Amino acid sequence: MANIHTNLSIAKELHQKAIVFDGHCDTILGIINKDRSLSEKSDVGHLDIPRMKEGGINVQFFAVFIEAIYKPHQSLKRTLQLIDCIYREVEKNQNDIYLVTNYKQIKEVTDSGKIAIILSIEGGEALEGDLGVLRMLYRLGVRLLTLTWNQRNQIADGVGESRTRSGLTEFGLQVIDEMNKLGMLIDVSHLSETCFWDVIKRSKSPIVASHSNCYSLCPHLRNLKDEQIKTIAEKGGIIGVTFVPDFLTNEKREATIKDVAEHIDYLVKRVGVDYVGLGSDFDGTKVLPLGLEGVEKVPHITEELLNRGYKVEEIEKILGKNWLRVFKKVAG
Ligand SMILES: [Zn+2]
Repeated sequence: MANIHTNLSIAKELHQKAIVFDGHCDTILGIINKDRSLSEKSDVGHLDIPRMKEGGINVQFFAVFIEAIYKPHQSLKRTLQLIDCIYREVEKNQNDIYLVTNYKQIKEVTDSGKIAIILSIEGGEALEGDLGVLRMLYRLGVRLLTLTWNQRNQIADGVGESRTRSGLTEFGLQVIDEMNKLGMLIDVSHLSETCFWDVIKRSKSPIVASHSNCYSLCPHLRNLKDEQIKTIAEKGGIIGVTFVPDFLTNEKREATIKDVAEHIDYLVKRVGVDYVGLGSDFDGTKVLPLGLEGVEKVPHITEELLNRGYKVEEIEKILGKNWLRVFKKVAG
């Protein structure tokens, strides 16, 4: 018992000190639909500012997700509405959160005790097939693009369109080149396998899987096969382990925080500790694992890793340092 208690207090301290960086949440949808506000602690959804503070989050990607009814012809308008919503939330909550676009700003904001927010877009439909739009979204602060959701778009095929084994479109190739040039993170979560390998061949920069798990542990289309994991690591990228129960286990039982740790363990055993991070998908899934029911529970991951014998430096990398390294390398 003594050991467990010591671990708990060490875990709390370690978690508080570490930079905790989460690669994906869909929270802004709940905010724009007025289900709740970001400023107040809610029992609806998974993430708001008070709960982020409890969870010790320092850097958070806020994804712009374009719902099916807006695709394809209102994708850009919807994207702008959601970005506007994030901008307004940041203005409203200036004492707590700040929109950042580069590594230096992340450092400044987190040093000042605030939470750094980074814009990302989940679904290349937002570009409506135009590189100029990509450049303007970059100027608005977007630093990561998840090339597809599950469907096909102007850039590539999502995992739901894997049957035809099509690769990137000509426009898709231009998007990769332009993102490399701009310094935007290319996200392959949701992408079909054929397109994944096309991205690997084309991109000069490290790539990320912002919220995906390991296919070997949980065979799901959304998860990454061993070869994909190895290649992301070889390119210096990162895999954000996601908390979505369907991507954690396909056993007929409730997923728990131990499953999240199993995927982390698996990645670390395969490619080492430098290519693993967090990619929660808070508010992008209805159900969360037992022990990880909201962002306030993220410190439990630190506790679980500590119990599994991870060293402090390793835990710090998994919690945030790896994401910071990739972000700095790609976005500057
Ligand atoms: Zn997603």
